[in-house]
Amino acid sequence: MTAVPEDITEYQLFVDGEHRDASSGDRIEIEYPYTRDVWATVPRATAADVEDAIGAARRRFESDEWQSLSASDRAELLHSLADTLAEHAEELARLEVFGNGKAIREMRGRMQSLPEWYRFYAGAADKIRGSTIPTDQDGMFAFTRREPYGVVGAITPWNSPLNLATYKIAPALAAGNTVVIKPSEVTPVSTIRLAELAHEAGVPAGAINVVTGYGDEAGAELANGDVDKMAFTGSTAAGREIGATAGENVVPVTLELGGKSPNIVFEDADLENAVNGAVKGIFGSAGQTCVAGSRLFLHESIHDQFVDALVDRIDDIVLGDPFDPETDIGPIANEHQFEKICEYVDIGREEGATLQAGGSSRDDLPGGLFYPPTVFTGVDNEMRIAREEIFGPVVSVIPFESESEVVELANDTEYGLAAGVWTTDVGRATRLSRQLRAGVVWVNTYRDSSLAAPFGGYKQSGIGRENGTEVIDHYTQLKTVYLNSEDVSDPFVPYD
Ligand code: NAD
Repeated sequence: MTAVPEDITEYQLFVDGEHRDASSGDRIEIEYPYTRDVWATVPRATAADVEDAIGAARRRFESDEWQSLSASDRAELLHSLADTLAEHAEELARLEVFGNGKAIREMRGRMQSLPEWYRFYAGAADKIRGSTIPTDQDGMFAFTRREPYGVVGAITPWNSPLNLATYKIAPALAAGNTVVIKPSEVTPVSTIRLAELAHEAGVPAGAINVVTGYGDEAGAELANGDVDKMAFTGSTAAGREIGATAGENVVPVTLELGGKSPNIVFEDADLENAVNGAVKGIFGSAGQTCVAGSRLFLHESIHDQFVDALVDRIDDIVLGDPFDPETDIGPIANEHQFEKICEYVDIGREEGATLQAGGSSRDDLPGGLFYPPTVFTGVDNEMRIAREEIFGPVVSVIPFESESEVVELANDTEYGLAAGVWTTDVGRATRLSRQLRAGVVWVNTYRDSSLAAPFGGYKQSGIGRENGTEVIDHYTQLKTVYLNSEDVSDPFVPYD
């Protein structure tokens, strides 16, 4: 077992290239979810601290030094940051595990691939282009330029802190913006470290600033601060508030929110693959992923056989010490989330669903936050366990008879983040990929992603996209320039 450091580390805000305490002096304790030991504290930022961070980002954005960086210069900074992150991948993986208790196996892989995002957007920096537009007027043409917004405010949740921070920071910097980021109060340390490493890698003071604190304090201050663009990942409830504030302030906003994603298995699917896909979809990261395949739709002809195979497969899943390389699933990331999962399992029981596996916490493991893979059958799509996001290792199995019925059931949700389809029928796969109302559809796989492919939600799962070259549009605004080479003849006619 890897123990947390004996001395509690006091981390600081990272603003304008410097470490600072909160102006109030208040701190938040950070727990390792496996042992529940406090291993770090971070400042509880006040409104004044957030304002200072925004000020630093604005000064950097407006500085001659920043404004005169060419796209290739920004690309060079991003490559340098990628190199530094690669050197520190193990350290960052450990900080992530101490933060949210995810298995080191998963976090190592994620941190080893993190630099790729910075390299991808380094490559995108000098490909940010406008277009040339002919007009009907002789001697005049128009062209467009994509320009950075200025200061980007970013807010991230606890489930994948550095990945979700990177989805924002890398394209924002590539496009020439500066950033103030507020990570989750549960997992803030890795983001502070990221900003320190960026500074070491040559990213100038004020280009990436980190304020730590609570959502309804520092988070709300940032969302309502003097920012030019907001990028948020988190719950739909908080996203609504941030979206409303952005609307009031007329600030563009990207929202990556919750989900209740359908994972649909047809009778013609390769069932072994589909069982693995169902496990990957809902039990990977203990179901604490926005794309969790939490509604498992099974064709009635394979329902019983599939549930038996799923329950058998669950027996092999290893819960335990996140630092043990054999561990598949660590503890739930925090007590609040753990209690939410327990509450929803009680709700499922009360609603009349049948527990086939799991259903009570694993008190034989340390820390009191372990929840095993849990399978409910006999679920109706109207039940709360089929409608509300649990964000834990709990799957609701719903039988269906026909393709048209399952499309209707799958789309009957307020969310629209992701969907999975398991079939060997290409026609059916093509039809469903069109009919499912979700930002991502996986066919014969689940929870895979590529940094080169856009990601984001339909309906209440969000607004805008992250990743891919498409995200650059969210970090730039379009300017149209008219260039005229003829005389201006009649000042009262706009054009002739
Ligand atoms: P959360 O909404 O409680 O908190 C997310 C972040 O927002 C935290 O930093 C928090 O401090 C801050 N915050 C909360 N209320 C705020 C407010 N009123 N104003 C400003 N900031 C506020 O979410 P969470 O519990 O940390 O994370 C889990 C949620 O995130 C789930 O709903 C999950 O689906 C979602 N998520 C979505 C994606 C995606 O890409 N769509 C990815 C990961 C997680």
